[in-house]
Formats: sequence, C-alpha cells, structure tokens
Amino acid sequence: MSSDRQTALILGVVVACQCRADSSTTCGRPHKPTGGTCPAIHTPHKPLHVIPRADVPPELATTLPPEELMVMCDACHAALLAMRRKTRRTRAVPVPEALF
Ligand SMILES: [Zn+2]
Ligand SMILES: [Zn+2]
Repeated sequence: MSSDRQTALILGVVVACQCRADSSTTCGRPHKPTGGTCPAIHTPHKPLHVIPRADVPPELATTLPPEELMVMCDACHAALLAMRRKTRRTRAVPVPEALF
C-alpha cells in the first residue's frame, strides 16, 4: 500500500470511508440505508485503509500521489478487493484453476 507517512497524512485529512456507490470509489456494495455512502469513520479500533483508486499492482501503489488514493473502511476494502478479483479474472488471460 502506501508509506506510513503518506497514510498518516491522508488519514489526518480524511476521517470517513470514501466509498460512494455509483462512483469511481465504490466498493461494489449499494449502501442503500445511507443513500450510497458508507457511514464508517476512522477510529483507533477500526482504522481505515488507504488504497489506490485504480486497480494497480502493489509496487505501483506505493508511488501514487495522494489524489490517486482513497480511504476505505475494513468492510468496503474487503468488498472492493473481492470485486477487483472478480473483474480481473474475467478480463485477464485465464489462469488455470486447480484441476482436482
Ligand atoms: Zn466503508
Ligand atoms: Zn462501501
């Protein structure tokens, strides 16, 4: 992900999960009860994650400027990863799964 300093910088400004349904920062969940936004906020017990907006390799993610990053809560991050894994599988050259 990003460096500690960068993470601290971003988390010092952004205090809530930036997941927005129907935007480039969606995790794939509709967040219907809150009108498309995620209500999760940054707390010491439940720290938010700083992640790249685009699906880039980890070695590239560390070099991204803050505007290319977004902040997400644990649940959204997990949902986003699952969604990216799925789209990656459909668009990339198929990797053979285990045969047995
Ligand atoms: Zn969230
Ligand atoms: Zn979300």
